[in-house]
Amino acid sequence: MTQIAFIGLGHMGLPMARNLLKAGHAVVAFDLVSDALNAFAQDGGKPATSAAEAVRDAGVVVSMLPASRHVESLYLGDGGLLDKITPGSLVLECSTIAPDSARKVHAAAAARGIALLDAPVSGGTAGAAAGTLTFMVGGKIEALEKARPVLAAMGKNIFHAGPDGAGQVAKVCNNQLLAVQMIGTAEAMALGVASGLDPAVLAEIMRQSSGGNWTLEKYNPWPGVMENAPASKGYSGGFMAELMAKDLGLAQEAAQSTASSTPMGALALQLYRLLLKQGNGKLDFSAVQKLFVE
Ligand code: NAD
Repeated sequence: MTQIAFIGLGHMGLPMARNLLKAGHAVVAFDLVSDALNAFAQDGGKPATSAAEAVRDAGVVVSMLPASRHVESLYLGDGGLLDKITPGSLVLECSTIAPDSARKVHAAAAARGIALLDAPVSGGTAGAAAGTLTFMVGGKIEALEKARPVLAAMGKNIFHAGPDGAGQVAKVCNNQLLAVQMIGTAEAMALGVASGLDPAVLAEIMRQSSGGNWTLEKYNPWPGVMENAPASKGYSGGFMAELMAKDLGLAQEAAQSTASSTPMGALALQLYRLLLKQGNGKLDFSAVQKLFVE
């Protein structure tokens, strides 16, 4: 089986790399943090001392890094990783980054004969652990067909969103909508509770009524309403508010470059920035509830 290099063993990358191991792939990984590499080695993965070493004998490279600047600095420029990857290899760039940044990396890869896909994910850390992520893929369909078995080891839904960068566009649209839904749910929960309703009763009524949405189904932001939701665990785990703010910023950049009107997305970004300013950036994004309660 083709050797896989995995770069970035964070909240998402480590469980994704574990699922590649479980599927029988040989995986050589690199992260800047040695604890992550040690955890991966304990699962039978092979740690590398650099990204260049990880990709040396790899036919497929997967990366899962925080943001555009990390991805650009890893792959681009003289001595960047694209110069170390064997032409003909496949790169699956799974981080959530700016569509324009993804297109830059696509162009540089194509110039070196490397097939690259932008393949950001939805499904959070639970989906990464369970191997049930949704991949939104941008790039050539032939490259996606080659990538399918590798993506299928980490996810359950694989969508071809369109050409280079389209996966990232789909991802920022989805996360903008998610943020707007989460804020709307938090606002309604606070209004109902302040007016004397039991939060669990209100949540169930709205879930089964026309206000029903994903956050009411799976991720209620009011503490105690859903036992397993981050809200009931001090807003720990899940998807950090600072990453949601990053994604809302990417949505605003996309809106700017297409002259789109996104007033709800703009307001959502401002509210998340406020949450970050209050020192809550590391909490799950459902902590936006805090803006609406004493
Ligand atoms: P994270 O910060 O936990 O992990 C990123 C990892 O990349 C870290 O371990 C860091 O040390 C490593 N890293 C950074 N630069 C590196 C480099 N040059 N070489 C090697 N390693 C490097 O972030 P995460 O939560 O795993 O998220 C990763 C990406 O996935 C982000 O773009 C995020 O927006 C997206 N995402 C996250 C979630 C989620 O629920 N956490 C859900 C969907 C998408």
